[in-house]
Amino acid sequence: MAPKAQKKKRAVRVPLPPPGARLRAALTVERLKAIYTAVTELDHVNPFQLLIATMLSTQTTDKLVNLVTPHLFARYPTAADLAAADPAEVEKLIKPTGYFRAKTRAILAASRMLVEEFGGEVPPRMDDLVRLPGIGRKTANVILGVAFDVPGFAVDTHVTRLTNLLKLTNSRDPVKIEAQVTRLVPPKEWSGLSLRLILHGRRICIARRPRCPECVLNDFCPSSSTRPKARVAKRTSVLSSRRGGS
Ligand code: SF4
Repeated sequence: MAPKAQKKKRAVRVPLPPPGARLRAALTVERLKAIYTAVTELDHVNPFQLLIATMLSTQTTDKLVNLVTPHLFARYPTAADLAAADPAEVEKLIKPTGYFRAKTRAILAASRMLVEEFGGEVPPRMDDLVRLPGIGRKTANVILGVAFDVPGFAVDTHVTRLTNLLKLTNSRDPVKIEAQVTRLVPPKEWSGLSLRLILHGRRICIARRPRCPECVLNDFCPSSSTRPKARVAKRTSVLSSRRGGS
């Protein structure tokens, strides 16, 4: 009998970014850095609290999460405490954040794995973080960047929207967006750029009503509804001082 043909492992194909994306990415990094501090708006004092708060932030606002986490962490300060918690009590505490049953299952399961496999500590590696129940690349990148200062580009709905509006990517797939953008900007900028895009998406480039006239990116953003003359001139000088295509 003929041997079965061996399956070839398929590499993830990263599409080329749109033309001019490298320059737009550099300008975005520079301009957003000038107006935002790269911080998460989720209150936390250690990696464990950040992990849990980030998990709770799904489908809700950071403000709501910040209202429930002080009570949650006062009652369950460590992974071991949360791993042994009564689910009904946790559900009650986190109920305002929505999807409280699924979120309770996820944070309890993640806490159990932290205790069983990582000595109760949040691991500082992507491969370990994504093994935790309920943790995807987005949350893992937030944890890496904010808690451990390890470069990570987290892609949430704001980052997906803004990177598309700015044409830094031509994909809506978070994995491809992460792969494309991290090829455009140096690793030391990944975490900060992601956090600043989120802040900009909340404050200025708001979904369905972007405030383009007030936006510091409006002179080069391909989706801008306005094009101020003064900054177009500045952009031209930046363009002429840089080389390279995408
Ligand atoms: S110029 Fe307008 S569309 Fe572009 S990033 Fe700014 S607010 Fe968003």
